[in-house]
Amino acid sequence: MLPLDAAREFVLERCGRRRPALCRVADALGLVTAAEIVASEDIPSFPNTAMDGFAVRSEDVAIAPCELRVVETIAAGHAPEVTVGAGEASRIMTGAIIPPGADAVVMVERTIVTPAENGSDETVRVEISVPPGNHVRPAGDDIRAGELVFQAGTVLTAGHLGVLCSLGMTDVEVYPRLRVGVISTGDELVDDGSPLRPGQIRDSNRRTLLSLLKRADVEPVDLGLAPDDLDAITEAISSGAATCDAIVTSGGVSMGDFDYVKAVLDRVADMRWMQVAIKPAKPLAFGTIGDVPVFGLPGNPVSSMVSFELFARPGLRSMMGHPHPTRPTVVATAAEDLLRRTDGKTHFMRVHAAHVDGGIEVRSAGGQGSHMLWAMAKSNALAVVPDGDGVRAGEPVDVLLID
Ligand code: AMP
Ligand code: MG
Repeated sequence: MLPLDAAREFVLERCGRRRPALCRVADALGLVTAAEIVASEDIPSFPNTAMDGFAVRSEDVAIAPCELRVVETIAAGHAPEVTVGAGEASRIMTGAIIPPGADAVVMVERTIVTPAENGSDETVRVEISVPPGNHVRPAGDDIRAGELVFQAGTVLTAGHLGVLCSLGMTDVEVYPRLRVGVISTGDELVDDGSPLRPGQIRDSNRRTLLSLLKRADVEPVDLGLAPDDLDAITEAISSGAATCDAIVTSGGVSMGDFDYVKAVLDRVADMRWMQVAIKPAKPLAFGTIGDVPVFGLPGNPVSSMVSFELFARPGLRSMMGHPHPTRPTVVATAAEDLLRRTDGKTHFMRVHAAHVDGGIEVRSAGGQGSHMLWAMAKSNALAVVPDGDGVRAGEPVDVLLID
């Protein structure tokens, strides 16, 4: 059996970064920048008010309270037309340009307006004195033109995309989103909700794998079901390789008489079939057709998900330029015994992790069989239980937080 790290290294070496390309900012969530982003303009681009209130000359309100003549009302998005002179103020709304002459803003809550009447001008009574710059956001207060905003290798989150929009960018240079095809294999599989005939089961892997891909910021492509038939599997994998950047299959990579996926990959791909020293997900067929990686994951539902987590997700993320393609490991405390038997393998037990007193505690999420998808669905972490007889309640255990 191959140690997990060696198997994963083999995979990652064949999952190099794809060529960067321009992508619409609107489509870039979750992608990784391939070049530095430098600000082309100041944000904000003009001095503006952080408050609704009155733009004043701070020297005029040095002795408060005082009465000022209102000369203009300035809304956000409109340029001021009047210079604020001695004894004057302009009503101003949050985000509007500070008018010439003014150097400070008094919030509306600290003012009282006397409306214009019988030819007299509208005036405002300012109750407090304020220093120069009060509630003024200068140009470039957040970001200055020419500043390095994001390094290459930044994973674009909601906030990052907002910054790119603030800078007026419509496109960004990234490692492109992969299109990844998913194929389920097995004569026993049905996916149309019809009553099961003897021996049939319903295909669950395709939905889980397509969903895991989506969560990995990949574009999932449903390539359907293939029966245990050499020609059918060859056709599905070959046509997938022609239209996708990578392929994920499930089933057909074990020791059974009809496990044809590895036979097909042997013919059409530069393939390696591995027995990895882990449980679940011991068998893994991995190969490349040209530069298209193919992940032949095992068929048992939990195995296919764990194998995706340990091999396919890191491989695909590394193709998409992620600086850290694998999940970080955190140390948790076992809240109950997590028992196992010695078998030369590292076990990835499905657990539920919860924050308790500044730490993380884990408990088994349920049945640990590789066919027991229910517990996998209820888990949010995989406890990495090394070979031996397990971890006792109260002992530390490494976990991968998967949700
Ligand atoms: P295999 O790896 O093809 O030997 O399949 C191992 C086990 O996983 C068998 O019990 C299969 O019926 C089951 N299995 C394979 N593919 C799927 C699938 N797409 N959905 C649910 N179970 C599956
Ligand atoms: Mg099968």
